[in-house]
This record gives sequence, structure tokens and C-alpha cells, in this order.
Amino acid sequence: MSKIAHYLQEHLLGEVTTSIEVRKHFATDHSIFSVAPSMVVYPRNEHDIRKTVRFAWQLAERGRVVPITSRGAGTDTSGAAIGEGIILSFPAHMHRIVELDLKTGATVVEPGINFGRLQQALHTHERFVPPYPSSGEYSTVGGAVANNASGPKSYKYGPVGAFTQGLRVILANGEVITTKRLSKRELNRKLGLTTFEGEVYRALDKILEENKSIITKMSRSVPRNSAGYNLADIKHQNGSFDLTPLFVGSQGTLGVITEITLDTAEYNPESTMIMASFDSIAALSEAVQWLQNAKVQPSAVEMVDGNLLQLVSRINPNLLKTAFTGTFPNALLFIEFDDSTERHRKKAVKGVVKAITNLATKITEAHDAQEQGKLWKIRHASSTVLAHSEERVKPIPLIDDGIVPLPHLAAFITDVYALFAASRLQVALWGSVGEGNIHAYPFLDIDSLGDRQRAFRLLEQYQQLILKYRGSNSASRNDGRLRGPLLAVQYGDEVNAIFKQVKTLFDPYNFFNPGVKIGVTFDQVRPLVKTHYSLDRIYGHMPRS
Ligand SMILES: Cc1cc2nc3c(=O)[nH]c(=O)nc-3n(C[C@H](O)[C@H](O)[C@H](O)COP(=O)(O)OP(=O)(O)OC[C@H]3O[C@@H](n4cnc5c(N)ncnc54)[C@H](O)[C@@H]3O)c2cc1C
Repeated sequence: MSKIAHYLQEHLLGEVTTSIEVRKHFATDHSIFSVAPSMVVYPRNEHDIRKTVRFAWQLAERGRVVPITSRGAGTDTSGAAIGEGIILSFPAHMHRIVELDLKTGATVVEPGINFGRLQQALHTHERFVPPYPSSGEYSTVGGAVANNASGPKSYKYGPVGAFTQGLRVILANGEVITTKRLSKRELNRKLGLTTFEGEVYRALDKILEENKSIITKMSRSVPRNSAGYNLADIKHQNGSFDLTPLFVGSQGTLGVITEITLDTAEYNPESTMIMASFDSIAALSEAVQWLQNAKVQPSAVEMVDGNLLQLVSRINPNLLKTAFTGTFPNALLFIEFDDSTERHRKKAVKGVVKAITNLATKITEAHDAQEQGKLWKIRHASSTVLAHSEERVKPIPLIDDGIVPLPHLAAFITDVYALFAASRLQVALWGSVGEGNIHAYPFLDIDSLGDRQRAFRLLEQYQQLILKYRGSNSASRNDGRLRGPLLAVQYGDEVNAIFKQVKTLFDPYNFFNPGVKIGVTFDQVRPLVKTHYSLDRIYGHMPRS
């Protein structure tokens, strides 16, 4: 055991280990990268985290930088849940629901709580947190907040950040702060503090004031955007100020989250659903745009394309046998309404059917849970693709994010097909198309040098397409090591310099998740690509996406 691990073990209530087996486990997340930590800490409480961070700060002051990576379940696909130095693993002990206020619906949780478990507990009170990522059964709330995750219901309810009211965070020097929207007067009090917290408020306020016009220009016409730091939502025009949106989606690069206050919504298990078939992406795209302006907003608008159906029918012919006779459509749209009144849902469905009837080749309505289950099974056929491999060739989480404004959706998808055709790669598309967020995992053998080089070429070419339509490279899966190098290209050098300023302000010694999101290049991450990619750790579940 190293001196650092020894010191921590002596001073923490939680466990510290340098075991090779444990470090091997924590050397991977669900990205294509691998980085082995030097030790793993299982904090028992906030005090343990404060001590660990404070110790890292003291070491850094003496010139020794020991990175700290906070970690939930490690399902991150951008390579942000791995790192050298210390892994702080939350699910072991810090997984409690601290409070549930049934009057306001707000709940306070520790970051290591499994998202599915929280959801189950909330369901018993007819509440839920709607932006539930597809990985929710095997990932944590802390990871979802730090990634600003989204799920199918984000179409109506927004990303996890929209439900995050406030946080408790450990800053780089070990100070603990609470975040929430502050009035102008409350902000003034913070600005007067002589602590590191006060310094952070003062300097951040200055950065925001000095760069107002640049920050305004960062905005994209897309509903999900986790690229970079969310600078636009910190200070509002009325002078109110909130650090929460900054920490949400910051992937553990600015501090360690120890407690999360979430809003919840009324949970209604009843819903109504439509599955519509299209013979072109253009027709599907027109339907999606109509939905955007529909009177009653759906709760989810998802898609799979014909290539995915063909691929699934080849891998698992029985899965789609009863759903389709003859040829597959070129695209399928899944539209869900979760209004609590059945009459409203029926009316909404009627409106949609009328509006898209000339665009779709077939429309199926499902009003009861069993029928809906059958339709969702088709949408979730993407799981079959994710878990499939052909010899060493597998679907790789490389192009698993990216979002474009809806008016450009059809042109963008046409370009994606052309890109994959030019790269002689098969492509299957699925995702939250209602928001313009699609996934296209290329089938590659990352064990081979040739495919590894191909992967990065493809990623950069894909990014050019996103930029052509003024979209964002990171919608819900965030930047991490995979898309961090694309930030400067997406936003330009000026904005990237502001991100770096913010990072340095919060983390002057660069020990919170270094090499993630900010200040990272492809040259730095290329050597970290692992030789074997697999979802094996979550095969106990059906890996959804
Ligand atoms: C098959 C599959 C499907 C997926 N589907 C979705 C989806 O539908 N939507 C979506 O948004 N994502 C999806 N993801 C990505 C990922 O599962 C989610 O972002 C998830 O919310 C991450 O949670 P986690 O507990 O695994 O976090 P981790 O992977 O452990 O960590 C994620 C990030 O959060 C940081 N972090 C964790 N805890 C803390 C803390 N306490 N303080 C500060 N930082 C912290 C980590 O450092 C890391 O940067 C999917 C991944 C897979 C493999």
C-alpha cells in the first residue's frame, strides 16, 4: 500500500484499497478507454470525502498532484468515470434517500443511489424523476447529475438538470458548499465571504460579466446540450445566481457532489402510444417537426431506422417476426402521451394520427400496457444490436451522442448514411429523434490498429456534420475524453478559453478528473483506447440505449 493509501485508510471511516483486482475493475467504464487508478476509496460519508480532497489539496500545494475521479456505476460512455490516482466510489455506502418531502415532492439523495431504486421508492408515492436514462437500472443518480443525463421522457420533461434543485459539493480545498438559486441579496453575501467559496463566486461572476456576449453566442437551438460547461444558466437577468447548472453536467471536473436535491413529478403509469412506419427519413422528419408544435406535447418521441430492423432480424429473427410481415419500413417513430386524463390522451392521439396519416405508411395505436410493451420492445431492439458481436467486430460507443436542430434532421441523417457508406461501415440508427439526438454505433474491431485510426477519423467527420447543422457533439452522454477534444472546434477558441478559466478557478491544481472534458486532445486520448470493448459488466440487465 502506498503512503497516500495508508494515510487515507488511517483517517477515513470508509475503506481504501490498492488491490490489483479492484484497480483492474475500476480501470474501465463503458467507453473505449482504459486508465488504471492507483487506489479506490469507498467513502462512508461526506467527512471522508472532505478529508480525501483536503489531503489531495495539501499534496498539490507541495507539488504532488493526485487526481480524484468520482464514480457512480461506471456506465459512462465518454471515458469520464476512469482516471489515475484516487477513484471515489459512491454506490458502496453513499446510496441513501436522505429525505422525501411529500408536500413539495422534493427529494434529497446521496449520489451513489441507483436511479432505478430511487424511482421505485418514488413510485410508491406516485412520484418520479422523469429524465430517467435508459441505463437507469444499473447506474446512479450522481452519475446522471454529473453527466446531465437524459432519457426518452426528456422530450417533455427536459434533462436531469431540469430536476436538480440544488447540490452539496466539496470544493478543491475540501470546503463544503450548498448550491441553489440565490437572490441578488444572497449572492452579495456570498461575494463577501473570505473563504474559497467567496473567491469562486467573485471570480465566476467576473468571468460571466466580462464574457456576456461570447456566452450568449454559445447557445444552440437544441433541447439537450452537455458540451462544455453550462455558463448561460448561472446568472439570470434579474441578478439571481446559481452554481447548480455549472456542476450539473461537469463530469466531476469542478468538485465532488455529496448530496442532490431533486424535484419530482406526478407519476402516472397510464399512457397511450403510437408507432408509425415511414418509407423515408424525410417523411419521419416532417412528422417529428409537426409534433414539435402540437397542442398536446408527447412525453416521448423515439425512433429506430430500417437498417436497425434488418440487422436485428438477422441477429434474432424471432424478435420482430410477429410485428412485421413482408419488408421492413425505412423508419419507425414511437410517440407516447402520458397525460393523466385518458380523454386528453385519446384526443392527442387522434390529432397526431390525423396530422401524420399522409406521411406514414402505417400507424398502430396502443392503449393498454401490454400492447405498448410490444411496441417498446421493437424500439428496444437496439439492445440486441448493442449486445451483438461478430468475431471481434462490435458496435462501439463512438457516435453515441450528437444532436442537431430539427429543421436539419433529414439532411443530417442523409449525410450520416453517406458517411458510413463512404467508410464502408454498416450503420443502424436509433434514438430520441424528437429532440434530434440519434445514436449510430459503428461496428469496429478496436483491437486492430487500423480500426482504431478509423474510429477517430469517423468521429471527426461526424463532428463536421454536426457543426454543419449548428448542432452539439454532446447531447446527453457528455464530453469526457471522447468528445472533450471537440469542444474548441464546436465553440471556438474564445469559449474554450473561458471553460479553461472556470476549470482553473474551481480546480487550480487540476486534480478533479484531469483529462476529462476540458483541455484534452485526441493525441492524449488515443493511447488510452483499450484493446477489448465489452458491455459485459451490465449483461445482467438488457443494456438499453
Ligand atoms: C447501454 C447504455 C445506455 C445508456 N443510456 C443512456 C441514456 O439513455 N441517457 C444518458 O444520458 N446516458 C446514457 N448512458 C450513459 C450513462 O449510463 C449515464 O450517463 C449514467 O447516468 C451515468 O451514471 P453512472 O452512475 O454510471 O455514472 P459514472 O459512469 O460512474 O460517472 C459518470 C460521470 O459522473 C461523474 N460523477 C459520478 N458521481 C459523481 C459525484 N458524486 N460527484 C461528481 N461527479 C460524479 C463521474 O466522474 C463521471 O464523469 C448509457 C450508457 C450505457 C452503457
